[in-house]
Amino acid sequence: MRILSVVVFCLAVSSTLRAAAPGATPAPETVDTAAISRIIDEGMNRSQVMETLLGVTDVNGPRLTWSPGYARAVEYLIARMSAWGLENPHVERWAPLGVGWTLKEFSANVLTPYAFPLHAYPRAWSNGVRGTVRADVVHLEAASDSALQLYRGKLKGRFVLLGDSVEFDSPFQPVATRETDSSLLVLANAGTERRGRRPGGTPGGGMQRWILAMRKLELCQEEKAAGILFPSRSESGILTVQGVTVPDHPDTPFANRLQAYDRIRKELIPQISVSADHYNRMLRLVHAGKQVTLELELEVEATPPDSGANVIAEIPGTDLRDEVVMVGGHLDSWHGGTGGNDNGTGVATSMEAMRILKALGVKPRRTIRIGLWGGEEQGLYGSEAYVSAHLGKAVEDSSAPRGKRYEYKPEGEKFCAYFNNDNGTGRIRGIYLQGNEALRPIFRKWLEPFRDKGAFTITPLPTGGTDILSFNEIGLPGFQFIQDDIDYFTRTWHTTSDTYDRALPDDLKQASVIMATFIYNAAMRDEPLPRKQW
Ligand SMILES: [Zn+2]
Repeated sequence: MRILSVVVFCLAVSSTLRAAAPGATPAPETVDTAAISRIIDEGMNRSQVMETLLGVTDVNGPRLTWSPGYARAVEYLIARMSAWGLENPHVERWAPLGVGWTLKEFSANVLTPYAFPLHAYPRAWSNGVRGTVRADVVHLEAASDSALQLYRGKLKGRFVLLGDSVEFDSPFQPVATRETDSSLLVLANAGTERRGRRPGGTPGGGMQRWILAMRKLELCQEEKAAGILFPSRSESGILTVQGVTVPDHPDTPFANRLQAYDRIRKELIPQISVSADHYNRMLRLVHAGKQVTLELELEVEATPPDSGANVIAEIPGTDLRDEVVMVGGHLDSWHGGTGGNDNGTGVATSMEAMRILKALGVKPRRTIRIGLWGGEEQGLYGSEAYVSAHLGKAVEDSSAPRGKRYEYKPEGEKFCAYFNNDNGTGRIRGIYLQGNEALRPIFRKWLEPFRDKGAFTITPLPTGGTDILSFNEIGLPGFQFIQDDIDYFTRTWHTTSDTYDRALPDDLKQASVIMATFIYNAAMRDEPLPRKQW
């Protein structure tokens, strides 16, 4: 530990000597290879990343925003940060208020035309039912508003299959994949056009379909159907399950949707995600003219409205302590699994990066801070709240590039960078530049020690769909790494299979040491990282 401190001091002195004059060509990036060797040794040989992952998954359960499981994970992480000696571990609360939700009991059985237990899972925030409800199943199949009207008077007290049958198109596709030399080359040679992080696009794929889908939901509500059964898009018995859909308009801002949801939550009929195999089977039985009867028991518990919570801790800086480098990911998860890959692995690797630096006794020049966000799945609430409380805001301004200018708080002016992990268990293969070419030679140098660990690709592409957007939204550097997909989109993303078991320990160790190295380098270099020029 002491040896590292001496090395760090030498770097600080030598890099001060080579500080470039304003406007001059930046000096070549240098890194402290001795310090990085120690980071790699600590992270690969004395890792605690799987232990942290176990704590946030199995031990404390799913971490649905605002819910008791989330609060348990917060408590666990604060205790762990304290035990490691991180400074000032604390919770930062944010609005809007939301209601906690816990699934207490659930069973669904098909009784006729022959019995089988239905493989299904209630959507988060679904209402329960009193006692046992037994009713027929009907398929609501309407391609237009007039076709929909034919169902008036036919849905009351029945379970409604809402959606077409699921097409299985992947039996010949591999379940898990890693990037290959050729796929990495495609990333490296890409332009700056955005790469969607999540497949599938917007629900309904267009305004007309969205509106019709909302009308169907409204009709089920008005008719007082017994419940809505949605097909899960995952295959092989895995269930994709997220939150309830509230009848609404696609243009409604998310915060208003949440209020609308709060208003009508109590009246929402149960919404249940059914495995593709069983959904398709029921659909075929109904179309074959068979009477399908379903029996449902569903008990849920709502907890009183509460604020959301982010978890924050740091390793204080020294001569540049007002400049902050951040690492993190979102702590909230969906409820069907235990949020192993989405985003227990991001939490565990961010925590591990902090632990490694703390264990080595690093005295960084800039402050290194971890941020674990709530409400990501509901719309990046936690990270947005952090950015507006600490860093600044965007203000509409037609004369400014992109139609807005940024008003920074003092901490925002001096903010260095945020490194996020939210793509599952796959090892790091490189990084997205978010369109900032000035970072290429810097990140190239930072990745050099990891070439033999498979991380060397730099892509000009931006990526999104996660908390970096809250930082990018006000022009601040926020980055996400290129990671191997493994089975993220085929098996684990928002599914009942998103558990501890899906994590690959060697990949998480590799990701942790690279993240520790990035935040260390960012905290130690002479100049802050160059920001994107608009
Ligand atoms: Zn996520």
